[in-house]
Amino acid sequence: VNLLICGARGSTPSPGAEFVRYGGHTACVAVARDGEEPHLVLDAGTGLRRLTRALDDRPFRGTILIGHLHWDHTQGLPFFRSGDMPGASVRVLIPEQGDASAVLARVMSPPHFPVRCEDLRGAWSIGSLDEGEHDIEGFGVVARDIHHKLSRTFGFRVTDGARTFAYLSDHWQTALGVYDDAARALATGADLLVHDAQYTVEEFAERADFGHSTIEHAIGLAEACGVPRVLLFHHDPDRTDDDLDAIVDKCAGGPVEVSAAVEGSIVEV
Ligand SMILES: [Zn+2]
Ligand SMILES: [Zn+2]
Repeated sequence: VNLLICGARGSTPSPGAEFVRYGGHTACVAVARDGEEPHLVLDAGTGLRRLTRALDDRPFRGTILIGHLHWDHTQGLPFFRSGDMPGASVRVLIPEQGDASAVLARVMSPPHFPVRCEDLRGAWSIGSLDEGEHDIEGFGVVARDIHHKLSRTFGFRVTDGARTFAYLSDHWQTALGVYDDAARALATGADLLVHDAQYTVEEFAERADFGHSTIEHAIGLAEACGVPRVLLFHHDPDRTDDDLDAIVDKCAGGPVEVSAAVEGSIVEV
């Protein structure tokens, strides 16, 4: 399985010279089997625009799983040119919470934004996903409710049958070193954990109720679940490239291999 990191930033985009290496686009990860183009996308932050370039401007045919509906996970939808062209076939699935089209339309309709999903070209469908095991675009996908902030939020465990990764982009740690059952279930035995790493322990003290996790928590969860690699994700919008380099350096040498998600990179699972 290959992950194309289309956006790794959390909360709001971070343009600017201090953020060019890790990138400023918000959460979006395109998933592809070896030798294929992506047909599965996790989250539709502003980074979704990068997928059009990766597809050489060809139409996208596949499924976008939105883990939850905060802005930084949906704002790429109206700008996804590979989804907005003849021949595109896009299924968007959000965590079950009633009429999915109506719920999504609350962020994508006037007066908030002029473009509605139904205005996009190609065949679009909006639906709901329940907790549990699913077969999506040929991948085994487990969806579980995870703790976040005022939005039903799924973490995902995705496998192609050979390799497995867990994706918990936004996850509110209940306490450092305390790992929820759902998070454990998603991560245990995975080859890679992609996890919310918005704060350091020091920062978390002042932002404990913002709905996110610390870098230390992400690494600790991987270690507790026997996951050999963690990819720090959902970087705080103020976290500079130099900050992230220093964090990765500091985390080297432990039992878990730690790297920080770089926009535009391909991560082999
Ligand atoms: Zn987020
Ligand atoms: Zn969120």
